[in-house]
Amino acid sequence: MADDGDDRIAVVGGGPAGLAAAELLAGAGLPVTVYERMPSLGRKLLIAGRGGLNLTHSEALPAFLARYHPAEPRLAAAIEAFPPEALRDWCEGLGQPTFVGSSGRVFPRSFKASPLLRAWLARLAGLGVSLRPRHRLVAWDAEALTFATPEGAIACRPRAVLLALGGASWPRLGSDGAWVPLLEEGGVPVSPLTPANVGFTVPWSAHMAERFAGAPLKRVGFAFEGTRLLGEAVVTAEGIEGGAIYALSRPIREAIAREGAACLTLDLRPDLDRDTLAARLAAGKAGQSASNRLRKGAGLDPVAAALLREAHGVALPSEAKALARCIKAAPLRLTGPRPIARAISTAGGVAFAGLDARFMLRSRPGTFVAGEMLDWEAPTGGYLLQASFATGRAAAAGLIGWLGERGWSRNPSMTER
Ligand SMILES: Cc1cc2nc3c(=O)[nH]c(=O)nc-3n(C[C@H](O)[C@H](O)[C@H](O)COP(=O)(O)OP(=O)(O)OC[C@H]3O[C@@H](n4cnc5c(N)ncnc54)[C@H](O)[C@@H]3O)c2cc1C
Repeated sequence: MADDGDDRIAVVGGGPAGLAAAELLAGAGLPVTVYERMPSLGRKLLIAGRGGLNLTHSEALPAFLARYHPAEPRLAAAIEAFPPEALRDWCEGLGQPTFVGSSGRVFPRSFKASPLLRAWLARLAGLGVSLRPRHRLVAWDAEALTFATPEGAIACRPRAVLLALGGASWPRLGSDGAWVPLLEEGGVPVSPLTPANVGFTVPWSAHMAERFAGAPLKRVGFAFEGTRLLGEAVVTAEGIEGGAIYALSRPIREAIAREGAACLTLDLRPDLDRDTLAARLAAGKAGQSASNRLRKGAGLDPVAAALLREAHGVALPSEAKALARCIKAAPLRLTGPRPIARAISTAGGVAFAGLDARFMLRSRPGTFVAGEMLDWEAPTGGYLLQASFATGRAAAAGLIGWLGERGWSRNPSMTER
């Protein structure tokens, strides 16, 4: 097996967490190689750019940190050390100034990830970071890392290792969760990977699935276990997905795991109270068809009317108050999360119990872990990227400290191994 040199720092995984780590390590004068299984780096970051690249969020730090509950105490120091303003400054430093959108979310003005990633990779090259695409980590033990490459397997015995292998959503972008058995065999505790920010299966009728797949539900109220929010979703052939569903996906997922199914309540006219809606329904012409009544009296579009019938049955009440009640509280039975491959992000991962405060594995001193492969989750809104960048940098800082304690800093030839 070919050898890939010793004494360097191996960062495995070329997503935001790995690249953020590589930047800090190389900036500290350390020799860094980034190994990435895909032919190019940062593919998930690029896909995030298709949605405008919501980098972070502008809300005050205490509220921001609370989004990571229950992992907040494990992430707070990393995010405080590299908070949203620091991420915005960093982005601007790469020629991509940011702005705060009306929702408080932060985006680059270009709304794109590609110019940012290009400038970032150029900066890393300038810092001497060696990038190795098409290198897939296939074995990991105390002695060496083994990578499968198009030229065959290579072994690498780095001075220290930083793993940033991502979660398991959208596996065609590179992160497929195949690292779980490798780490578990190495004695690392891993919480099962589960889908986060994900849609759910709804046992639709064939009519609903065929006729309305892809139809948007706009300005709908969603209520689950005491949480209410106004938002949007999309009906799919298998169920329902979209921003509002993702925001509720953690408690829904947990309820389904507990009880086998969950009931989400939709308010199809959240802008009208029940009495006003009932009065409008009562004011309709006598003899009006049920469909016309829903369309003209309640102002429901065809997908909302169909959803109402899925929820309450085809024979809706004719009495106005009872019908208004149905429209304001349509129960939707969710039977399971959609597969992790379709989720925006991953919950579960390397358990914090297996790490020390600087993100080093207790069972493998000298190996650090960062990014989405750690056991935390957060809603969409920029929280995922922010924590990936921040933990990448925090793990790199931990690694620099650990090397320093061993008398190994910029120039390995000057010190004892
Ligand atoms: C469609 C979509 C849109 C998103 N939009 C946003 C958004 O707007 N805002 C936001 O905050 N978040 C968003 N996210 C989430 C965000 O992109 C991720 O949380 C973030 O990329 C995680 O960074 P990471 O570096 O930890 O992991 P990743 O970005 O997944 O990077 C991990 C890297 O490791 C590589 N790798 C995996 N296994 C191996 C191996 N065995 N050997 C070598 N390399 C390996 C992978 O190929 C990958 O490049 C979005 C996600 C998706 C899917």
